[in-house]
Amino acid sequence: MTLSAPLTTLKGIGPRVAGRLEKLGLRCVEDLLFHLPYRYQDRTRIVPIGALRPGEEAVIEGEIQASDIKFGKRRSLLCRISDGSGSLLLRFFHFNASQQAALQRGTRLRCYGEVRRGPAMLEMVHPEYRRIDEHVLAPVEEHLTPIYPATEGLAQKRLRQLVQQALELLRQGEVADYLPGELLQTQGLPSLQQALSAVHQPSPETPVAELLEGEHPAQRRLALEELLAHHLSLRQLRHKVQQHAAPPLRPPGRLRQQLIAGLPFSLTAAQQRVIEEIDADLARPHPMQRLVQGDVGSGKTVVAAAAALQAVEAGYQVAVMAPTELLAEQHRRNFSAWLEPLGLTLAWLSGKSGAKQRRENLELLAAGEAALAVGTHALFQEEVVFDRLGLVIVDEQHRFGVHQRLALREKGSHNGSVPHQLIMTATPIPRTLAMTAYADLDSSVIDELPPGRTPVETVAISDARRDQVVARVRRACVDEGRQAYWVCTLIEESEALQCQAAEETAALLAEALPELAIGLVHGRLKSAEKEAVMARFKAGELRLLVATTVIEVGVDVPNASLMIIENAERLGLAQLHQLRGRVGRGRVSGSCVLMYHKPLSQQGKARLAALRETNDGFEIARRDLALRGPGEVLGTRQSGMLQLRIADLERDRDLLPEVARLATALLQRWPQHVAPLIQRWLGDSQRYGDV
Ligand code: ADP
Ligand code: MG
Repeated sequence: MTLSAPLTTLKGIGPRVAGRLEKLGLRCVEDLLFHLPYRYQDRTRIVPIGALRPGEEAVIEGEIQASDIKFGKRRSLLCRISDGSGSLLLRFFHFNASQQAALQRGTRLRCYGEVRRGPAMLEMVHPEYRRIDEHVLAPVEEHLTPIYPATEGLAQKRLRQLVQQALELLRQGEVADYLPGELLQTQGLPSLQQALSAVHQPSPETPVAELLEGEHPAQRRLALEELLAHHLSLRQLRHKVQQHAAPPLRPPGRLRQQLIAGLPFSLTAAQQRVIEEIDADLARPHPMQRLVQGDVGSGKTVVAAAAALQAVEAGYQVAVMAPTELLAEQHRRNFSAWLEPLGLTLAWLSGKSGAKQRRENLELLAAGEAALAVGTHALFQEEVVFDRLGLVIVDEQHRFGVHQRLALREKGSHNGSVPHQLIMTATPIPRTLAMTAYADLDSSVIDELPPGRTPVETVAISDARRDQVVARVRRACVDEGRQAYWVCTLIEESEALQCQAAEETAALLAEALPELAIGLVHGRLKSAEKEAVMARFKAGELRLLVATTVIEVGVDVPNASLMIIENAERLGLAQLHQLRGRVGRGRVSGSCVLMYHKPLSQQGKARLAALRETNDGFEIARRDLALRGPGEVLGTRQSGMLQLRIADLERDRDLLPEVARLATALLQRWPQHVAPLIQRWLGDSQRYGDV
């Protein structure tokens, strides 16, 4: 029997169990070997009660000293157990008479469970337990106990038995090792066979702590292989994309010159450099795949416009997509102001446009009369047809995953040629992470802010001191002639509640600040209403804008100098940085007040501190990564690639440079290993396959 044999060849697997295994994506014996434990329990030794620490899971053994039923809010059975080194309370909320009878004073027990801090002493709630006889030595487990991702009707024990069978086959048979032996040697990493057997059935000598931390060489080897497989699949995708044709766009640049000549500022060196990088891509007969990262306020929009005009001048259409209605509306304003004087027509497609307007805009696009379309996701609905789409620009979509990139490309394909793609984000992705998650993209960084900006001064204030915050708003808006945002957030995802909170806050602020013209925007307003409020705020008619987080990205009103964020402790770092980026955009220095509600959690404290300490988006991104982990930062689902089985981008980040080097070596010297390696780790989910 070989490792590629179906799982039904193992003992104890009938069609029903096979069905459940299939749910976990397991079909053949080798799949089972790569179904890796996500954690371990240590049942190999008995821990003295006196040495227990809260939070750990442990086996203990001792004698019941007292056993009582407590009638409180919830009836519970409490057993105090002691082993000479200390005492611990076992707490049961569900128990029957026979269990109670079995847990009498004087009984010896062995328990396994999580240790928690209780009111009087350490506790285990509903531990696994078993009576033991004082005179018989009950053996402990020989290996650390692996815990597998499981599914309903498939218990850990069953999975362990099956893996055990698979391991026996592994020891007899051969599993293909795609990592070159010389590399493993220089890195001191085990062979695949050794690694698999060590992670599924760690030997008693295995350093437990290493394994629990995911730092055992066997785990590192598998993590390296997994990261390599993902990286290779993105490299392959990139390669495939490069096989497509795209229209080479290299006009003289007349339109762009006109745009730049009309700007009230000159471009920064960083903006110019990135524009050149984009031009070089656009001139090639293959699709550009470029990610432009630039901190909030670094001036990405005008870079996008400069790219767009190249395409337009070459006779192609451009689509500019924004993640929110509000941002799309702002782009519409900016782009019309820039493009209409050049004699160009703009189409506008939002989810909320009226039927007539929509039809007109669709016609403009299909006939090729509109040079540029601005909109939200509505741009990529089926009935939207472009005449000659040459460039797609996606703004502020750091969570724009591989799938979406592919879907976009399909949308614009025409006579075997696909449009160029430019993705802009203000949420910088730390370099190592970008290398892994965006290995199919080239990247440019606008690493300079326009001159004259001063860092936004940031303070955190408890919401008990709301009056002071209101006074600050008065000072900025009335005395200094500036404008301010007041952002209402709620932990509930419900948009309705958010909007309600914003309405209430706006009413309260209107009472407290009768001399101020206050506007309100939230997600439930109609597109035209939102736009009207934003336009009045931008024109300075409204001095204070109360808003939900709809203004999170992109909104640009240079005269606004003060940002108040309520319940700031509940928002993520990246989101807070984005919101704060709405001020300090002009020559006026900005400030940001983070209002929080006590008590602050550790995480909340760390986030507010990070924001107070730095204005640098890359530094914030780095701390965000450390606080939340890469899955959250990139958005696991959208990013597609981060469903990692054993690797952990944060923990294993020192492996990433090695991954890139190794990928190159494999492609050059062992190209035959690439496909099976990707198949092994990405399997059916190999969604990047057919481009
Ligand atoms: P973001 O990178 O956050 O999208 P924007 O493109 O909205 O930034 O630009 C922020 C503000 O800076 C806008 O008001 C824009 O007009 C202005 N701006 C852009 N480039 C420059 C520059 N080179 N010099 C001065 N101001 C600039
Ligand atoms: Mg922007």
